Amino acid sequence: MGGHFLSIGECMVELSQAPDGHLRKGFAGDTFNTAWYARACLPADWSVDYFTALGDDPMSDEMLDFMKAHDIGISNIRRLRGKTPGLYMINLKDGERSFSYWRDSSAARQLAADGDRLRTAIEESNVLYFSGITLAILSHEDAETLLAELRRAKAVGKLVVFDPNLRPRLWSSFDAMHTMIGEGARASTLVMPSFDDEVSHFADDSIAGTIRRYRQHGANMVVVKNGPDGATVGTDAGETLVPAVKVAKVVDTTSAGDSFNGAFLAHYLEHDDPVAAAHFAAGIAAKVIQEHGALVPPEKLQAAG
Ligand code: ADP
Repeated sequence: MGGHFLSIGECMVELSQAPDGHLRKGFAGDTFNTAWYARACLPADWSVDYFTALGDDPMSDEMLDFMKAHDIGISNIRRLRGKTPGLYMINLKDGERSFSYWRDSSAARQLAADGDRLRTAIEESNVLYFSGITLAILSHEDAETLLAELRRAKAVGKLVVFDPNLRPRLWSSFDAMHTMIGEGARASTLVMPSFDDEVSHFADDSIAGTIRRYRQHGANMVVVKNGPDGATVGTDAGETLVPAVKVAKVVDTTSAGDSFNGAFLAHYLEHDDPVAAAHFAAGIAAKVIQEHGALVPPEKLQAAG
């Protein structure tokens, strides 16, 4: 049947250290990673587009070329004069990863500043995806613009999907995060939180509690990811725990949640069965965590069987 999937947020330049000490350059960011996995899992009659803002520098050009080369639509991406993309670096010390970010003045912070373009892009899409990080990097006014457009999309029956991706450091205060994450859920049909984040920041005492909270905000369906303990699908029909797929060796958990979301949505859009979609997504996420990096090539997702 096909359709148009639009993911909204920030893709950054990623620097990581190769074993010989050289820096490797890549591109990643939560909503972009999910678009990547949705693209990998959706049939060709679906388009997958990314909505963000970039600069007019060579790095922005390279990022756009990268997206285009991987069949992710870029026609909605604004170019801002004098701006650059955000950047982060993965630091590895004694096997532990930590991150340094340079994103405070990235072009993506202005992704919702052109309300007309945002509206048109959303109107042209059937499925909208965004995250708590998307909301956190915007000015309050721009976040309100984005939420208003998403509420309109939800009201006309489009699937609006939100991963709260709680990152307190990106918010001015806990209250701001709390309020805007609630607004994100209100604008959404489906919320896909990670249980450990929700426990850490909203003190949920059970998965059922997380599902209840997001459903009270107005989401119709909630899928709570819980690492090796699987994912719970909460709908009007009740709650179903879908176990994770056991893996012999976890190599890199980067993008576990993002790939789960992308794969879940791809399956759900084609088959309309959230429990089957969660089984499929657990299989894809299990492959992703057995490879290095945020963006595992589509052929590896299939090859690992
Ligand atoms: P996030 O990256 O958002 O914190 P999770 O850690 O909850 O997300 O992982 C998302 C999904 O990835 C899980 O629901 C599960 O299917 C899979 N997953 C994560 N960690 C493991 C693991 N150690 N073994 C098997 N599957 C895992």
